Amino acid sequence: MSATPILQVRGLTKTFGGVLALNAVSFDLMEGELLGVIGPNGSGKTTLVNCISGFVRAGAGKVLYKGLDITHWRPHRIVRLGLARTFQMVRPFYRLPAFKNMIIPLYSPRVKALAGGKFGAREAVALDLLEEVGFERDSHVAYKVASVLPQGYLKRLELAKAIALQPDLIILDELFSGLSLAEVGSIVPIIEKLRGEGRTIIMIEHRLKELFKISDRVMVLNFGMKIADGPPAAVMENDEVKRAYLGSED
Ligand code: ADP
Ligand code: MG
Repeated sequence: MSATPILQVRGLTKTFGGVLALNAVSFDLMEGELLGVIGPNGSGKTTLVNCISGFVRAGAGKVLYKGLDITHWRPHRIVRLGLARTFQMVRPFYRLPAFKNMIIPLYSPRVKALAGGKFGAREAVALDLLEEVGFERDSHVAYKVASVLPQGYLKRLELAKAIALQPDLIILDELFSGLSLAEVGSIVPIIEKLRGEGRTIIMIEHRLKELFKISDRVMVLNFGMKIADGPPAAVMENDEVKRAYLGSED
């Protein structure tokens, strides 16, 4: 892990109507770090991802990525710099086969630029990427239309689409939700591999046990505010975190 921050978030704030979804959240993320983000439902986790990745316009605050102020940039420009995210609610092109869904990120300007302006055999690359996330090579699952795929495969497809962009920072918004323990267990090594390649990762998760095992650091949101940020063991012992999870006892 290097000491260079790849991401600097400062006072990020977003309101929807009267709801303060994100309230002056600040944090740094170092290159190569795996940051877990947790918080009760509605605590602003997805809004944080949306503001960082340009899908929602921040009301106040700043996002610096690789030292560049990307606040208010459109998503496609942010992706081009190597910041990719997955969606909690998957949204594939349901009428297309899984591997054809891969063609979309594989034809992105970023991938084209990284390939020196020339696209190679995109379909072969798509199938390789799908295999990497757990589509068995000879099972024909990759050729099935997305609408018939079970949730586990749709989540894997979502991950593969993000990996296809060769991101430096990848944000996973509840990748494990809706998956069985066995499925989670089979995806964890993929995340560890991404990390071994030097990629920086933010993982939003409800499964604390799995998350705490692989995170360097955990940040906790509650009612749009950051209430804790530190090593998993310390965060688990934090009284405010316990209260947020167990309900208010005092
Ligand atoms: P989390 O991902 O932690 O469950 P969200 O970021 O999705 O939380 O939501 C935080 C708060 O903002 C919630 O009260 C939610 O209802 C509200 N919210 C999120 N997105 C929108 C939106 N597009 N329009 C209105 N309210 C929203
Ligand atoms: Mg969410």
